[in-house]
Amino acid sequence: MERMEQTVVQELSDTLLQCVVCSNNMTCKDRLCLICVPCTHRFCSHCIYEWLGKLNRSCPCCRQPISSLMVDHQTKDLSSLLSNYCDSNDDNVDNIHNFTSLINLKESSRYGMVLYNIRNFPGIKVSYVDNTLSAYRDGVRAGDIILAINSKPFFNLQQFHSLLKSEFIDGNLSMVTCKRFVIHIHSLKNSFVKHEWGYIALHDCAQLKKNDIVVSCNGKTHPDQLLVDLRRLGSYINYTIPHFKNHYTPSNTAEIVYYSNFIR
Ligand SMILES: [Zn+2]
Ligand SMILES: [Zn+2]
Repeated sequence: MERMEQTVVQELSDTLLQCVVCSNNMTCKDRLCLICVPCTHRFCSHCIYEWLGKLNRSCPCCRQPISSLMVDHQTKDLSSLLSNYCDSNDDNVDNIHNFTSLINLKESSRYGMVLYNIRNFPGIKVSYVDNTLSAYRDGVRAGDIILAINSKPFFNLQQFHSLLKSEFIDGNLSMVTCKRFVIHIHSLKNSFVKHEWGYIALHDCAQLKKNDIVVSCNGKTHPDQLLVDLRRLGSYINYTIPHFKNHYTPSNTAEIVYYSNFIR
């Protein structure tokens, strides 16, 4: 390639294909794709999933709200085209396990999930999982936010369901969910304040760190039911139950789904 041409291509890829999150050229490899957000800024899919996994709600570039995600086919094509000319930078195609939980859902006629759209946040939220059906066995939990199926985002529930149908590969598909953890515990000594996503831990304890947000307890996500189970575990809900004392000794292990690093 001519030196001049090389410079132009390099400049093009630097200006058009640089992801502001990782500062690398956006690449699409395997199932990873490039993602466009409503303000038209573009990112590597793994970068924007990581960003949203921390429950950030605005564009890393311009701070406009992110309400949906789109696959950016044009930039993807450009990326493939330019990667023929440039040295491809494969370092930034890291694995999704670092920042999100990847759930492998097996093909089934009945998953037993109740899902709903989230206002002003991409993805869908799992409000209930039937623990006798397949989604629960595959690792889906009430409170999870599903961002993508096989790395592909979707606009709404309808698209989510058609992706579920069309994306099965070898009877499995992978779901990218926001960074979340499932723990099984007998007691939880912490204080919480209510938040629109759940209950925020006010200090560090054995199981949770300050500002972790509990979204589900024993499969319950409704704020009132969640509160009952948190109380049973010995927790203290600030402002809601000012003088709560732990009378209750739980006999069964409770399962908590929580997001880490929420507003740290
Ligand atoms: Zn990136
Ligand atoms: Zn933006």
